[in-house]
Amino acid sequence: MEIARELLSESELKPLPDPDKLGFGIYFSDHMFVMDYHEDRKWHSPRIIPYQDFSLDPASVALHYGQAIFEGLKAYRCGDGNIRLFRAMDNMKRLNRSAWRMCMPQVNENDLLGAIKELVRIERRWIPEARGTSLYIRPFMIASEAFLGVRPSREYILSVILSPVGAYYAEGFNPVKIYVSDKFVRAARGGVGEAKTAGNYAASLMASEEAKELGFTQVLWLDGAERRYVEEVGTMNIFFVLDGVLVTPALSGSILPGITRDSVLKLAADWGIKTEERAIAIDEVTEAASSGRLSECFGSGTAAVISPVGSLYYKGKNYEINNCQTGELAHRLFDELTAMQYGEREDRFGWIDIL
Ligand SMILES: *Cc1c(COP(=O)(O)O)cnc(C)c1O
Repeated sequence: MEIARELLSESELKPLPDPDKLGFGIYFSDHMFVMDYHEDRKWHSPRIIPYQDFSLDPASVALHYGQAIFEGLKAYRCGDGNIRLFRAMDNMKRLNRSAWRMCMPQVNENDLLGAIKELVRIERRWIPEARGTSLYIRPFMIASEAFLGVRPSREYILSVILSPVGAYYAEGFNPVKIYVSDKFVRAARGGVGEAKTAGNYAASLMASEEAKELGFTQVLWLDGAERRYVEEVGTMNIFFVLDGVLVTPALSGSILPGITRDSVLKLAADWGIKTEERAIAIDEVTEAASSGRLSECFGSGTAAVISPVGSLYYKGKNYEINNCQTGELAHRLFDELTAMQYGEREDRFGWIDIL
């Protein structure tokens, strides 16, 4: 794929933000990748251009019917001077699975990864240096045809934007307080929960606002049919250590197949820890928490890597886990995954791309 380049001159570049105040998703780099799709022409005009607004017809399908998908991965500036990506090809494959589910066109995974690498190389000054910080990469696709009938759009825009992000745990691990929602659900089997599609996040806002109002950090989602089985926590996958076994909900169709989730399962198995992917009833979790059989609970996702859960609030009762302290396995997984991402461990699984 031949990518056209329209780059800013040195004097037109933005000043870099204060590296101590990056936060998440606030600042955007100087350039972006864009390509267009038309049913007849297929994907065309790949280009790296200055970061700018899109021009969208007000009738664009994405704005009305939500044909919109995204991905999230990171570029890490490493101590050895290299830039690394973690399991990036898996993000490309998942983008295509989301596209398939939402009746959107497939992209060439190698071409898109190549474009991302080229963009990151051009924008390398935007990758912050401090351990734990990174350059967040947001590929996304939106339906751009101007048409108000309900059918798949015939035109799309695929874009990649970059945002420098701060360390999630600048002040060390802070186990989160979780609210188990038995009123709202995130997704239902047969729906679009396993696709990284925009509407899933709109659908999640009400419950997370409610949880925040009540003083909790995030929502633990139960299944849509019975509100009985654990699904995800916030926008992360969830793990429990039950009787020494690492357990996570099986991918039933309503759960996002997290790449961090998969990495956790592979690492734990490699360490000789027994793992299970199965249905986990919330009653099993609360009973195990009460009887001391639940030693750890944590979320997994690209943003936080591992997010320890300190307590669960369900039906008027609060269940503390490991005295609200980060568990041993959560710590070990976080250390191992971040060491791989920053190039401090041998890449035993072939997960790393060096730019
Ligand atoms: C992105 C996402 C995850 C985590 O996926 P990773 O590939 O590990 O970053 C989990 N759940 C939801 C709902 C997500 O959107």
